[in-house]
Amino acid sequence: MSDKSHLLEPRYNQQILIAEKHLQTKAKGKGTKINKERIGYLVEIGAQCPICGIRFEGGNHNTEHIFPSGLGGENKNHNKIQMCVACNSARNQILQLLGHPPWYDRYPENFEHVKKVLIWCLITVEDGIHSGKQVPEIHDKFMQYRTGGQEFPNKPTKSFGPASTWVVGDNPNYLHNHSPNNRTQSGKAPTTSLTLSVFDWIFGYKSKAKTPPSKNLRKTTDERAKAESEPKVERAKAESEPKVERKLFTNLIRDLIGEDSIYLQELGKRIAVHQKENGMGDTTTKTFLKSYGFGSKTGLLKAIQMTLAGEVVYNRESQSPKIGLSTHPITKFVNTHSGLRLPREPQAFSDILVWLSTSMQDFENHIECREAIREANLLAKSPVPLLLGLYKVFNEDQEYLEASKIIVTIKPHQVCEKYLEYYSNNKISGMDPAPATSEIKEGLTKYMNAAISHLSAADEVA
Ligand SMILES: [Zn+2]
Repeated sequence: MSDKSHLLEPRYNQQILIAEKHLQTKAKGKGTKINKERIGYLVEIGAQCPICGIRFEGGNHNTEHIFPSGLGGENKNHNKIQMCVACNSARNQILQLLGHPPWYDRYPENFEHVKKVLIWCLITVEDGIHSGKQVPEIHDKFMQYRTGGQEFPNKPTKSFGPASTWVVGDNPNYLHNHSPNNRTQSGKAPTTSLTLSVFDWIFGYKSKAKTPPSKNLRKTTDERAKAESEPKVERAKAESEPKVERKLFTNLIRDLIGEDSIYLQELGKRIAVHQKENGMGDTTTKTFLKSYGFGSKTGLLKAIQMTLAGEVVYNRESQSPKIGLSTHPITKFVNTHSGLRLPREPQAFSDILVWLSTSMQDFENHIECREAIREANLLAKSPVPLLLGLYKVFNEDQEYLEASKIIVTIKPHQVCEKYLEYYSNNKISGMDPAPATSEIKEGLTKYMNAAISHLSAADEVA
């Protein structure tokens, strides 16, 4: 297969930026393992390496950082996955292709290579080992180190995803597990909506999920096999469940969440209070969901996912996932990780544009710029996605600094117009997995118009 890594760069833009900063600042990577109890559990149930399918026994396995810590990957559960020692060490050998660490010694000459290694490391966990073939230069080396160039004899059937996606007691939830009867994952019902990406965040599982990660979380092997035998029927039924009182349910959930950004658990408590206030004896969430017509297998998160996906936003500020409602439910694509990454409120966007238009020339590079945005407290979440979006809209192929020069030369409201122009030209691709549908365009227009009217109001005051 020819090298597709340049096509994958937009998808991993954020991680590439992090690696670049990491090398520039000469920071050291650090790593700790997944905790003992959880690793004990993996061995106890005979979990397998997600890369090669080898069963974990004794000490033949290790915690690996999906985004290598030496390149700036975080030492947090969402970035940790348990792997067999052989795969782990072959991955380490791949990293050694960059030369002996520290790799900042050879930055920036080595950066093209760093990007390939990084993309390979990420995509082989996110999309399964076979996806690594898109970066053949790295993939072939890995297979050479790992098996002498042979394909793996076994595919994983009982593997676990990143440590943030499961707890002791859960069933194997790796998205690229193959079912034991050799049917491939592609035999499963496809995701009907890209809105699921919001929920990948809620689960802390950043991936192009083919099925919602929740699907396999708490089922026994038997139940899973059963579910897999008729997944399409089950899914289709859930999507168009005729009994579900959709409108009543969504109105109530909107009321209960209100303007807050809350943990799912807190929403459960509010539901219980609501049930009590309405004289219901049984205040479990299950009963509540049943009363709105959801099936017994549907949990709260799934019920929200089915009915309110476009309106739910995941607050990345907090380490534990929180949910809130977008006051501008333009689309699930606007402020999710896979979307345009705009701030939730159009006002926040217009504020930052005003600030950028006067301050951008003060920065030597994007790193300085984003640090300044952080210090100015202009955004609740990281400014990186917003900057990436801006640079992308303004100058896809240029250096960031070049793009920022262009941004300062035009007025903030023109930035909004440029966004609309860019995305209405069906340019939603690469980082954004969705086509520019009329829904997105309409939503984006609403958002940008709101931002522009904030800008005009500010102009009048000034
Ligand atoms: Zn392995």
